[in-house]
Amino acid sequence: MEPKFEVDLDINQYFDGEIEQQITVLEDVKPKSLSAECPHCGVYAAMSLDSVVTREPGWKFDLICSCPNCRQSLFAQGEYSDYDPDEDSKVSRVLALYPEFQPVNLPPEIPDKYRGDYREAILIKKISPKASAALSRRILQNIIREEFGIKHRSLAQEIDDFIKLPNVPSYLSSAVDAIRNIGNFAAHPLKDSRTGEIVDVEPGEAEWLIEVLDSLCDFAFVQPEKLKKRKEALNNKLQSMGKPPMKS
Ligand SMILES: [Zn+2]
Repeated sequence: MEPKFEVDLDINQYFDGEIEQQITVLEDVKPKSLSAECPHCGVYAAMSLDSVVTREPGWKFDLICSCPNCRQSLFAQGEYSDYDPDEDSKVSRVLALYPEFQPVNLPPEIPDKYRGDYREAILIKKISPKASAALSRRILQNIIREEFGIKHRSLAQEIDDFIKLPNVPSYLSSAVDAIRNIGNFAAHPLKDSRTGEIVDVEPGEAEWLIEVLDSLCDFAFVQPEKLKKRKEALNNKLQSMGKPPMKS
């Protein structure tokens, strides 16, 4: 993340007795661009500067920028500084950025159809736990339905079937099971019947759902893919040794 500035320098010459002296004066500084990881969409880009306000004293600027990728706005405060005695170099830096960037590193094995909502659920967790929880519940339900073929009228029933699956590890089934208690489904029937509905959340519910999604995605997508790659590697080895492949 670095702001770039356009700098006007003026060279003043004067005579100190017989000796000609030269000093460089910083006349003006203008913010030129700001490259940053967009806090909305996560793309690293040169932001467009929409509006610039100079803050006195010194060379500090309030910058309202927009992301060329998602068109959302961000606010940054940048500073131009000639010289940093600690670094022994010229420095320009971003002093503040809003909204804050939260890196979201989803495993590449998670299919695209879940990634967008999942990313958003993580990003808005603090600003709107209700909306985040609604997104998480919907993704959870979609994964249970599409990846495990379990479909009922209510999420609670689907969870019931899911935790009974023979190969689900106990840490995951307990975590998924707890969604109903932590979300107090009894008091909020909509969470159960219309999972994507935005309704009040219980304390810690949005965070819990994200944790559960993390474990569920690991179980449903990441581990099977790793296993598949390991098998392929072993089979290639067997083949190179002139042996038949493993039984699947
Ligand atoms: Zn963006």
